[in-house]
Amino acid sequence: MSTTRILVTGGAGFIGSHLCETLLNQGNEVISLDNYFSGRKANIAHLRDNPRFEAIRHDVTNPILLEVDQIYNFACPASPGFYQHNPVKTIKTSILGALNMLGLAKRVNARILQASTSEVYGDPKVHPQKESYWGHVNCIGVRSCYDEGKRVAETLMYDYRKQNNVDTKIIRIFNTYGDKMLPNDGRVVSNFIVQALHGNDITVYGDGSQTRSFCFVDDLVAGIIKMMNKNDFPGPVNLGNPNEFTILELAEKVIELTNSNSKIIYKTLPQDDPMQRQPDISLAKEKLNWEPEIELEEGLKRTIKYFKQELNS
Ligand code: NAD
Ligand code: UDP
Repeated sequence: MSTTRILVTGGAGFIGSHLCETLLNQGNEVISLDNYFSGRKANIAHLRDNPRFEAIRHDVTNPILLEVDQIYNFACPASPGFYQHNPVKTIKTSILGALNMLGLAKRVNARILQASTSEVYGDPKVHPQKESYWGHVNCIGVRSCYDEGKRVAETLMYDYRKQNNVDTKIIRIFNTYGDKMLPNDGRVVSNFIVQALHGNDITVYGDGSQTRSFCFVDDLVAGIIKMMNKNDFPGPVNLGNPNEFTILELAEKVIELTNSNSKIIYKTLPQDDPMQRQPDISLAKEKLNWEPEIELEEGLKRTIKYFKQELNS
């Protein structure tokens, strides 16, 4: 059988770099495409000597022609701090990026998988969230550039599928964490761990009663690859860990596991911060035979180990 040639956009990012590594380990040829806005070359440096790996500096808002069999479209800043830095660029990345990658998929007859998000559900009024829920999204708030960009990208996947017969797939990723996150990423797990390891105050936004359900990156990557290789199932499908925690519970857990003297302080809750989030993963279980195996405490221990090394290097 010939090797599968795979393009991973956002390949130097947190999830993308794990995906590149796993796909290489499975014997594929992998091209990482990234503009290094919220990722870094260090995430893929250990893959450089593999003759089946190639890294290209490119911005997905511009077209590119490559001969590939599969495209994982992951290019897009995912942390609120990064995606709100230049909202117009964020929405261009989602929409023009999806258009360019769909154009490429159509031209070379590749299968394309879009990294969508639980943010398409906005601040959800249905709990837990099922794929059939249409969401509760503000179209003019601080999170809109990300949320609406991702929603349009989903629409484009379906329209290219209907109109041009492109083999499209959509996953909706819920809060994922793990090694290779940047220390200054700004998302809650990395923030709390870095603060705890430095002995700084742990910054809980609001009263900490809002909830998230945290998935360890290795579990997520297994689900992503299963979805790409599943025939006759375009999705969207939720991928995440259904165990739900308040942000205050997360802060306390991180303090306990790092043995830190850090104190919890409370800061203003950002605008449109969703109050609850928990995936219903029955569809992923049924269609992909997938569910997460690594629970929060184990995942946090692994992530803490990574950040200890990262902060000492
Ligand atoms: P990340 O910021 O670490 O990775 C994104 C990567 O895309 C970075 O390497 C960045 O440099 C690159 N990028 C950004 N804009 C680009 C552009 N215009 N052209 C080329 N490259 C560009 O974030 P992540 O957590 O790894 O997320 C990866 C994908 O998964 C994103 O599409 C994100 O929306 C989606 N997602 C992630 C989560 C999560 O919890 N981590 C949740 C939902 C969805
Ligand atoms: N959060 C927090 N302190 C931080 C960073 C985030 O309390 O230092 C909260 C944030 O307000 C949100 C939750 O943690 O309620 C998850 O935030 P994150 O940015 O990780 O992801 P998202 O809001 O996109 O799910």
